[in-house]
Amino acid sequence: MTKLPFTGKFKVTCEYGRKGTVWKSGIHGGTDLVGIDSDKVYSISNGVVERAGYDKGGFGNYVRIKEDGTENRIYLAHLSKIYVKVGQRVTYTTVVGLMGSTGNSTGKHTHVEIREFKNGQAVRKLNASNYMRIPNKVGEYNSKDYQIKTESRPEYKPELKTLARKTNLRNKPTTQGSTAVLYIPNTTLYVLEKGVANADGYTWDKVRIRTNGKEGYMINKNYK
Ligand SMILES: [Zn+2]
Repeated sequence: MTKLPFTGKFKVTCEYGRKGTVWKSGIHGGTDLVGIDSDKVYSISNGVVERAGYDKGGFGNYVRIKEDGTENRIYLAHLSKIYVKVGQRVTYTTVVGLMGSTGNSTGKHTHVEIREFKNGQAVRKLNASNYMRIPNKVGEYNSKDYQIKTESRPEYKPELKTLARKTNLRNKPTTQGSTAVLYIPNTTLYVLEKGVANADGYTWDKVRIRTNGKEGYMINKNYK
């Protein structure tokens, strides 16, 4: 296995951090890769799809994945086709779409970008080449040279909790304008992600109700 979106041969066509006026921030926030042997774009981590659609800001058709075990968000951009849906769990072997040239792109490639999040907000862009464990250097490479050990991958370890009181499961991490479903004390749930947002005076966790598998957001102080 690798942490790359392509199998077989691929090229790095633009490094993370390259300076240039074509980018609003003045630097290239991700790494551009071109798959040579295949257009299939794989997830580069285990996680959950948080966004899947068209971005007018430049990404074109893109997928955003929340990495298991970290606050990192992975963006795979300029896709010609998207094969996954929001909420879907993905692994390193999930094909999320096909390489394309949608959005701010001059030729077929996949822009890989990693953003570190804190409290639901992006705080910085990480070096995507380091993340994928490839040289941050324009050139042609082969994925077989960048295999990683499976045990080094972040694991998905949800925490089991019990409700202390009547609590709403909400579809957004806020009391404002979110759909609410009431759950009673002693309902068990898994905390999938802690501290996803601070809103309305509360810290929110992303949770999954154990009995019915429903996912949503709860205020973090309501567990036993
Ligand atoms: Zn790019």
